[in-house]
Amino acid sequence: MKVLISHITMKKKMFSLTAKGAALDIPEIDGEISAILEIYKMGEKYYASGTVTANARFQCDLCLDEFTQEISEPIAVYISYDSDESTDDFIPLAHNDVEIDFSAYIRETLLLAYPYTKKCRSDCKGLDAITGLNLNRASAPAKEERADPRWEKLKLIRSQINL
Ligand SMILES: [Zn+2]
Repeated sequence: MKVLISHITMKKKMFSLTAKGAALDIPEIDGEISAILEIYKMGEKYYASGTVTANARFQCDLCLDEFTQEISEPIAVYISYDSDESTDDFIPLAHNDVEIDFSAYIRETLLLAYPYTKKCRSDCKGLDAITGLNLNRASAPAKEERADPRWEKLKLIRSQINL
């Protein structure tokens, strides 16, 4: 995911970069990573901002099924020859570089954007504690089918807080 430095001007320009997840060594992404960036230069520095998007495959924490989730993360980074920068949103440049390589920065951004808890859907029922069956697919135990209607309210609350 590279941009030729000679293509960057003081006037903001849009750049569309793509790469396969495998090329960036991200096992959760087998499709394409796309970054739409607006880049310009000011003095010796280059500024890039935009969005990076990809579909990642995760395993659900609750039911262990695989699911796909879109990750879309804003990016704002600057690129400079100065090596003594203290911010993370910075890509160092060597004086003989002819292009800016965003790959490592985009990889980091995507990995940090992964959801903290991975759930295939907000109301995932998880696995049955006794049988290990996936409760999203398996029908509920017969006992629960005949549950007292007065428990319906409680069931509703439980599903809302995702137990
Ligand atoms: Zn699940």
